Amino acid sequence: MYDAARRAGLAANLDAVHQRIERACALVGRDPSAVTLIAVTKYFPGSDVEHLAALGVRHIGENRDQEAGEKVAALPPDVRDRLTVHFIGQLQSNKAGHAATYVDVVQSVDRPKIATVLDRAAHARNRTLDVLVQVDLAGTAGRGGIAPDDAPALAGRVAQCAALRLRGVMAVAPLGADPAAAFARLAEVAGAIRADHPDADWLSAGMSGDLEQAVAAGATHLRVGSAILGSRPLAR
Ligand SMILES: *Cc1c(COP(=O)(O)O)cnc(C)c1O
Repeated sequence: MYDAARRAGLAANLDAVHQRIERACALVGRDPSAVTLIAVTKYFPGSDVEHLAALGVRHIGENRDQEAGEKVAALPPDVRDRLTVHFIGQLQSNKAGHAATYVDVVQSVDRPKIATVLDRAAHARNRTLDVLVQVDLAGTAGRGGIAPDDAPALAGRVAQCAALRLRGVMAVAPLGADPAAAFARLAEVAGAIRADHPDADWLSAGMSGDLEQAVAAGATHLRVGSAILGSRPLAR
C-alpha cells in the first residue's frame, strides 16, 4: 500500500540530512557532490527503499545477509537497477558468498578469508564487487574491522582478487570516544593504502550522529540510518 505520510516524512528527514551535509562541507570548503549519501535501510521494509528511491536516493546500506537478500530480491527491477546496494555488516565466511550474489559493494571486509570467499562467489556469477577494508578504530575485537596497522596488507590481498575492486576503507567511530580523532586515524590508514593503490580513494565514515566530523575528516561516503528512517524497529 502506498503510504503518502511515510513518504513525506522520509522526504523531510532526507532534506534535513542533505542540509547537514551541505553545511558540514561549507565549513571545510568541500564540494557536497564529492560526498555520497548511503541510506541505511536495515530493519526497514522494502517499501521504504522504494520511497527513498523515488525521492532520489541512489545508495542503500544493509547489514544482515538474510534480511538484505530477501529485501533486494523483492524490489521492482527498475528500482533495484537504479540503486547501488552496500553491505555494511559483519560477514561470516559461510555467508559472504551469498552476499556476493546481490550486493554491489561490500564495505566490511576485515580478514583475508572473507576476501577469498567473496572473490570466488563473484567470479562464479561473472560479477565484480567494489570492496572496502573495514578498519577497527576501537581496538576491541568483536565489532568487526581489522587493526589499523594490518589494514594495508589486507588491502593488498583484496587488490589481488580478480573479481574484487579495492575502493578504500570503512570504519565506525568507537562509542564514547571523540569521532574526530577516530576519523583522523582512519584518514591516515586510507592515505597509506592509497599510496599503493591510487584508485582506492573511498573513505566511508560517519553515521547519523557524527556525519559532520566525518565530512571534516574527508569522508567520501556517509552511512546514515536513523536520521533518515527514524529509530530502528527491534531486530527480528
Ligand atoms: C546501522 C549502521 C549505520 C547507520 O547508523 P545510524 O546511527 O542509524 O545512522 C552505519 N554504519 C553501520 C556499519 C551500521 O551498522
